[in-house]
Amino acid sequence: MLSLEGLDKYFGSFHAVDEVDLEVAHGEFLVLVGPSGCGKSTILRMIAGLEMRRSFRRRIDLPLGLGIQVLDREQIEQHVVEVAQTLEIHELLERFPAQLSGGQKQRVALGRAIIRDVKLLLMDEPLSNLDAELRTATRTRLIRLHRQLGRTTVYVTHDQVEAMTMGTRIVVMNEGRILQVGTPDEIYRRPATAFVGRFIGQPGMNLLRAKIVVGEDGSVAEIGGNRVAIPARRFELQAASFDALVGIRPEHLSLHEGEIVLEGRVEVVESLGREKLVHVDLGGQSLTAAIDSQQQLDADQSIELRLDPDALQLFDPLTERSLLAVGSC
Ligand code: ATP
Repeated sequence: MLSLEGLDKYFGSFHAVDEVDLEVAHGEFLVLVGPSGCGKSTILRMIAGLEMRRSFRRRIDLPLGLGIQVLDREQIEQHVVEVAQTLEIHELLERFPAQLSGGQKQRVALGRAIIRDVKLLLMDEPLSNLDAELRTATRTRLIRLHRQLGRTTVYVTHDQVEAMTMGTRIVVMNEGRILQVGTPDEIYRRPATAFVGRFIGQPGMNLLRAKIVVGEDGSVAEIGGNRVAIPARRFELQAASFDALVGIRPEHLSLHEGEIVLEGRVEVVESLGREKLVHVDLGGQSLTAAIDSQQQLDADQSIELRLDPDALQLFDPLTERSLLAVGSC
């Protein structure tokens, strides 16, 4: 439905958007996610035609809903009440803008966007001013609304939870470039770069410096004083011996299950109620594990963490690109 080719934007000498190509399918909820300043809003503004553009190509296969809808008074009232109820602002309809809080104004703006029968919705951090509870509730409502109406949406956020929960596809960006485009599941399971692994997930993926030694009777990763067997068939191993970043998701570590064992020392334990985040010193490197909150753990005690070999990821330490072999998972 929307095809962008060669999006490029400089602010003075600063390269804010670097040769971005993007396709958005009809009915899709595409989320642009990345850290502050990575160029997400600029891309959205370019799609909307608000940024001066020199050479990129923008093709939109449907009219942008600029036609006038003819509705009678009753239909208008009904629409307004429905949308206001969805966003929990129906009790505020009689107020003036100056009598609304920042979060309420943001919901009014959201309502004004979704009430129109447009073919393409562009949203830039529409939930940023809402408190945590309202943010989660409105997120669910927007997902439901998208299911019902199927409106093609391009949504910008720096919040990876929003990206994972809302996006039918996610575009992960950093420094003006696209690092990966995929479904939430693909991005979580097969991060294309170490940055994507670290950015997606709460907390993000641990990245540990390691030496990989490929032997005839198996391959081994030496990580912070631990030697662990790695399933070589999953990776494109570069040489007989090479440096790599080993990626381990905190939630894949446990105290009891998994063939791989990593020994370290507990530094800090943070209790989150449902789980505990355990920060472990692994021979001078820091590793975070998310484990069952029933476990009793104290700072300074030694710890053995276990994980399944198939949960390991490897990245090139220079390019940060994943070394997962094509077709493996
Ligand atoms: P955030 O999540 O903080 O909103 P973003 O990813 O949406 O960030 P953009 O607003 O697209 O980022 O900005 C990309 C980069 O371009 C930023 O580093 C920003 O400082 C810079 N930038 C944006 N607009 C201008 C401008 N008018 N002049 C100069 N630099 C700009």
